[in-house]
Amino acid sequence: MTAGKEPLFPLQNYSIMADLTIREKIEAVTERIVAAARRAGRDPEEVTVIAVTKQVEPERIEEALRGGIRDIGENRVQEAQAKLPHLTAACTRHMIGTLQTNKVRRALELFDVIHSVDRLSLVDALSRRMEGRQVDLLLQVNVSGEGSKHGVPPELLEELALAASSAGNLRVRGLMTIAPYDPDPEAARPHFAKLRELSERLARLEIPRVEMDWLSMGMSNDFEVAVEEGATHVRIGSAIFGERS
Ligand SMILES: *Cc1c(COP(=O)(O)O)cnc(C)c1O
Repeated sequence: MTAGKEPLFPLQNYSIMADLTIREKIEAVTERIVAAARRAGRDPEEVTVIAVTKQVEPERIEEALRGGIRDIGENRVQEAQAKLPHLTAACTRHMIGTLQTNKVRRALELFDVIHSVDRLSLVDALSRRMEGRQVDLLLQVNVSGEGSKHGVPPELLEELALAASSAGNLRVRGLMTIAPYDPDPEAARPHFAKLRELSERLARLEIPRVEMDWLSMGMSNDFEVAVEEGATHVRIGSAIFGERS
């Protein structure tokens, strides 16, 4: 911009500031992940940040992608269908919300990973619609037993994994959980530890096409604890994009 020709409303500057803000937040999150991984003797490279973009407009998603994000997460098929085709930068797309059986076909077209496989009927629907696609699946576990949360109860997890294996055309990469919200992140630790134990137990069964390499756990409030407990994927919304309305 040449001196003396500044526009009355320097909108460009605002967008640059917004860009820096998201970028800075991503940098701050990344630094905290690196520190948490080091505390646990882990390689920070093992942890993927999924920027949760629900209620975030495509322009701001693009800012995050320019800021170093490679993975994004949406929780509703309809919203994803409206937004994702507008993204110009490549990224890995994760479905992190509850998936209704009648939305499976669209979900398989829109996403690379589905984190919310939590029941036999969904395994069935995914298998029937997969049609040679390469969509990775995670089994969502209701570790805490909290009534309001989705996810398979731990005692039914093995049955679900065996069903996914029997389907023959599904690839399970690991487990996902949502810890009950608590202002104290330490409250989530036992739930994350439990998910890791379940994953280790399942891995020992060596079920065909059921790998246990990924652990999707940790959100804005508790991702450092999740990384300390072995998370490979943290799902972070508000710490990157600000509070949702
Ligand atoms: C919204 C959401 C997140 C991100 O939540 P924040 O607290 O904003 O980081 C993570 N996982 C799931 C399943 C979500 O629905």
